[in-house]
Amino acid sequence: MANLDEPLRKVLGDKTAKALEKGLDLHTVGDLLHHYPRRYAHRGELTQLSGLEDGEHVTVMAEVVKVQGRSLTRNPGYVLEITVTDGTGELKLSFFGRKGSYRPEKDLSPGTRGLFAGKISTYRPRSGNVVRQLTHPQYKVVHERSAEQAAQEWADEIIPIYPSTKSLPIETIGTSIETVLTQLDLPADPMPEGLLSRRGLIGLREAYEGIHRPKSWDELGRAKKRLKWDEAFVVQMALAQRRLAAAALPAKPRPPAFGGIQAEFDARLPFELTEGQREVGDEIAADLAKEHPMHRLLQGDVGAGKTVVALRAMLQVVDGGGQAALLAPTEVLAQQHYRSITGMLGDLALAGQIGGAEYATRVALLTGSLGAKARKEALLDAASGAAGIVVGTHALLQESVQFADLGLVVVDEQHRFGVEQRDALREKVGGGRPHVLVMTATPIPRTVAMTVFGDLETSVLGQLPAGRSEIQTHVVPPEKPAFFARIWERIKEEAAKGRQVYIVCPRIGEQEGDEGDAVAAEEGERRSPLGIMEVLPKLEELLDGLNIGVLHGKLHPDEKDAVMRRFTAKELDVLLATTVIEVGVDVPNATVMVIMDADRFGVSQLHQLRGRVGRGSLHGLCLLVTEAEPGSKARERLDAVASTTDGFKLSRLDLEQRREGDVLGAAQAGRASSLRLLTLQRDEDVIRDAREEATALVEDDPDLAAHPGLATVLASLLDEDRADFLEKA
Ligand code: ADP
Ligand code: MG
Repeated sequence: MANLDEPLRKVLGDKTAKALEKGLDLHTVGDLLHHYPRRYAHRGELTQLSGLEDGEHVTVMAEVVKVQGRSLTRNPGYVLEITVTDGTGELKLSFFGRKGSYRPEKDLSPGTRGLFAGKISTYRPRSGNVVRQLTHPQYKVVHERSAEQAAQEWADEIIPIYPSTKSLPIETIGTSIETVLTQLDLPADPMPEGLLSRRGLIGLREAYEGIHRPKSWDELGRAKKRLKWDEAFVVQMALAQRRLAAAALPAKPRPPAFGGIQAEFDARLPFELTEGQREVGDEIAADLAKEHPMHRLLQGDVGAGKTVVALRAMLQVVDGGGQAALLAPTEVLAQQHYRSITGMLGDLALAGQIGGAEYATRVALLTGSLGAKARKEALLDAASGAAGIVVGTHALLQESVQFADLGLVVVDEQHRFGVEQRDALREKVGGGRPHVLVMTATPIPRTVAMTVFGDLETSVLGQLPAGRSEIQTHVVPPEKPAFFARIWERIKEEAAKGRQVYIVCPRIGEQEGDEGDAVAAEEGERRSPLGIMEVLPKLEELLDGLNIGVLHGKLHPDEKDAVMRRFTAKELDVLLATTVIEVGVDVPNATVMVIMDADRFGVSQLHQLRGRVGRGSLHGLCLLVTEAEPGSKARERLDAVASTTDGFKLSRLDLEQRREGDVLGAAQAGRASSLRLLTLQRDEDVIRDAREEATALVEDDPDLAAHPGLATVLASLLDEDRADFLEKA
C-alpha cells in the first residue's frame, strides 16, 4: 500500500519512475495523483484537426485512413506515412526507420482509432495546401469495441487526455495512475466531515478516482469540485493563520489626538475630503488606535486621493509620538511624494525652523542617490525622531536606517513591493510591530484580493474627488493616418494654451535593457517597440518650437528629479517618457497623453498611464497610437481601454487575458503550482466559501490541533515554498 508521500520508484519500479521524473518532474504518489488530465474525450469523438497550430504539443484522437510506406531516395532509410482524420481534416504521421525494423503499421491499419501525441509541424508541398504532421508520434490504439459492449456505452466512455511530453510513451501515465490508485492508502480525509456535507463535497479517494477514471461526466464534475475546493481551502487556511498571527502581535496604539498636527492639517486643507476619504480615514484611525498592528490594503483608482488619506494617518501617528515611513516604488515617485507632502504640510513641516507652526514636524527624504551629507542628515532625523515622516525608496530598508519610534509604514503602489520588503521594514521596530497601510491604484479583482492579498483587510476609495475632469481616450489606428497627423497639431494647440503633454513609448531605445512590461509580441515577426531615443529627433521636428524633456529609468536620479521639476514648473511643454511616469506622477496642468505603440502595454498599465492626465480641473485626452489591425486581440484590448475609465472593469479584463501564473507570481507558474483546477477568473464563489470556512476553522482551532490531517496538508504546502505566491504578488 502506498501513501501520498511514497516515492513512485517503490510503486512503479525504477524505469517508469525515472521516466515520470524526467518527463514530468513527478516524484511521489501524490505528485502523480495531482497530475490531472488536461481534458477528456469521448471515445466516439474525434479531435478537430484543423485547429492545430504549428509547434503545438498535442494529443489527438483520430482514425487512420491511409498507410503508405516508401523508401527514401538517398539514404537506405524508409518512411512510413500514415494519414489520420477527424472526418474533415487530416494529419500526417511520419515514422522513419529501416524497413521492417519498426512496425507501427502492424497496429495502425485503416479504420483503427487511436490517440496520437507529438509536436505539430507544418509544410506546404509544391502543389496543395499546408500539411500538418507529427513526426514519430507517441500512439495508443483505442481498441475496437468488444462484442459485449453496447455501442452507445463504448462511444460514451470518457478518455482522459494528459498533458503530453516527448519522452513518455502515451500510455505510461494512464497505467501508472491505475497502479497507484489500486495501491493507494489514504489516511482519513483531512477535510472535516461536517464541512464536506455542508458544502456537498465527495471524499478524497472518490475524487482521485473520478478525476482520473471518470465513469460519467457527473462523476468528473463532483471530483473536480472537491479537488478545487481543496486548492482554495488550503490557501485560505494559510492566509487565515497569517491574519490571526498578525492580529495577535502587539503594537503601540496611536489613537487620534484632540488638537495636534492632524487637526491643524485638516483645518488647512484646501478642499473638502470626499465621503470615501472620510470613511476610509475613520477606518484607519480606528485601526491605529488598536493594540495590534493594522494590516490594511487601500485600493483607489488613479487620482482617487489616496495620498491625503495616507498623510492624515501618518499625522495621527506623529500626534501619538511616533514616526511614519512612506515607501515608494521609484525614486521619481519618492521625490514627488516628498515634494507634495512638504507642500501640503507647509509650515507644519518646518519644526525647529523659523516659521515653523505649532505641532510642526519634519519630513525627511531618503533615497539611494542622496549625497553623503544629505543622507547623513536624513538618517539622523530618522534615528533621533526629529523627522515625523520619512519618505523613501527601498533605501529605507537598508540596515543602516534606524527609527526612533516607527509607528506606521505606508507602502505606495503595492504591486512593486513584495511582502518580504514589508517585513524588513517591520523588523525595524523593536518589540511591537508598526501598523501597515498598503496602497494600490491597480484595482484588484475580488478573487485576487482574497488570495494574493488575503492577509490584509481592504478599504476601497470608490469615488474620485469632485471637480475631477473626464479623460477621453481614443485609439489612433493604422487605417486612419489623418488621425495620426492630427496629433502633433493638437499638441501644439495645447501648448499654446499653456497646457502640457506626455508622450510615452514602450522602450528607451538605443540603450541596453528595456523598462516597462510592454506586452510580449504576439505571433509572427514584429518590429521592436518604439524607443524614446528613436522618437525624439522626429518629435523635435514635428513639434518645432516646443520644449521637450526626456525621462526614463536609466537617467541619473538627479537628472530625473531635475526633469520632473522643470515639467512641474511648466518649463517643459512635452515630457517624452517611458513607464517611469506610470505611477503617481501628479502634474494637474498636463492634459494630453500620447501613448505610442499602445498595444505593447497591458490593460492595467494603460489605465495607470492615462491617469496622469485629467488630474486638475482640465479635461484629459489620451491617444492610444497603434499599428494593430482592426479585429486583432490587441485592438480589442485598446478599444476596451478607450471605452471605459472603470479601473475595476479593466482589471477584470486584464486578469482574463493573463495567465494565472502572471497574477500569482512566478513561483505559481512553475512546477510548484498548487493551483491546478482553481482559477481566479471563474471560481470566485469557491474562493469566497473556502475563505469563510477556513477563517471559522482557524479561529476555532488556530493550531489545527483537532485537524491533524489539515495541519499536514498545510505544512507540506508551506514548506515546499509553495506559499511563495502568498508573498510575491
Ligand atoms: P492617487 O489616489 O492617485 O494617489 P492623489 O492622492 O495623488 O491620487 O490625488 C490626486 C489629486 O487629487 C492630488 O492633486 C490631490 O491633491 C487631489 N485631491 C485629493 N483629495 C481631494 C479632494 N477631496 N478634493 C479635491 N482634490 C483632491
Ligand atoms: Mg498616488
